[in-house]
Amino acid sequence: MHGLILPPSRTFAQLTTLARERILILDGAMGTQIQGLGLSEEDFVGKGSGCACAHHSDHPQKGNNDLLILTQPQAIEDIHLAYALAGADIVETNTFSSTTIAQADYGLENAVHDLNAEGARIARRAMDRATATDGRPRFVAGAVGPTNRTASMSPDVNDPGYRAVSFDELRIAYGQQIRGLIAGGADLILIETIFDTLNAKAAIFACFEAFAEHGQRLPVMISGTITDASGRTLSGQTPTAFWHSVRHARPFTIGLNCALGAAAMRPHMAEIAAVADTFTCAYPNAGLPNAFGLYDETPDETAAQVVDFARDGLVNVVGGCCGTTPEHIRAIADAVAGQPPREVRQ
Ligand SMILES: [Zn+2]
Repeated sequence: MHGLILPPSRTFAQLTTLARERILILDGAMGTQIQGLGLSEEDFVGKGSGCACAHHSDHPQKGNNDLLILTQPQAIEDIHLAYALAGADIVETNTFSSTTIAQADYGLENAVHDLNAEGARIARRAMDRATATDGRPRFVAGAVGPTNRTASMSPDVNDPGYRAVSFDELRIAYGQQIRGLIAGGADLILIETIFDTLNAKAAIFACFEAFAEHGQRLPVMISGTITDASGRTLSGQTPTAFWHSVRHARPFTIGLNCALGAAAMRPHMAEIAAVADTFTCAYPNAGLPNAFGLYDETPDETAAQVVDFARDGLVNVVGGCCGTTPEHIRAIADAVAGQPPREVRQ
């Protein structure tokens, strides 16, 4: 891929050096923290906050967490800051659904550039505040979600050849998102919660198109999700197959997030760690959701499992996904502090 010959970005070497020295800490869930704020429709739209979104939509916005970047920027910055002060080296922008494809549900396709650019700026501000308190370098990962459409499978059981989205539609939508994240100053691009590898390949392609325009190559983190007992992604790949499908992108990290919690993730992380010749990253949910969709695993319980990943040499970057809080990240950071990072076979 021609994008690989581009010069690396300013922070690429710094991140690589740090990842060789120690296990890096990624942040935890954004959604769990936002839920805790108990925001109303008016709060989401930004009425009264002085930050009403400039983009027009008649759709209800409650639940459009990414929109809070524009309508409640201080609340989002404070969540990023809480994670950074809990020990996160890398925080994810609140842009999981900031593509035209995902924002179509809310009629806010036109807001996509602003969501991503502002999302990265807000995270950068929070990281600079954290660094001012303790001098530690911190990095912003532009979060790129899977979208709510699948390129390699049909959503219609009566029409298996049907596709709700094409590779090119995804490539274009991801490209807009990634250009916005770069414009806002993201240090890395994190393609996460991948259930369909073809969607991820469109995002990777879009990264390299955007990097070519930018004139620099940013580190890319690639994170799949395995949600059932078969140990395969939704599009049917084993962890090894998943790695081989994306290794051409020479990602900064390869790994897994979300899904069934650390215990169920462990064998799949071990498989990836055994085959991948790059850094690995794991950020599980806080266990399994209970009957109310909430996560009961305590910070110490999650940290005890994640430190086992570290002890067994499986990981270079760790954090949390759904249900994790700044307290979980603090517990994880404390637990892995004395553990060496996984050695990368070159
Ligand atoms: Zn999750």
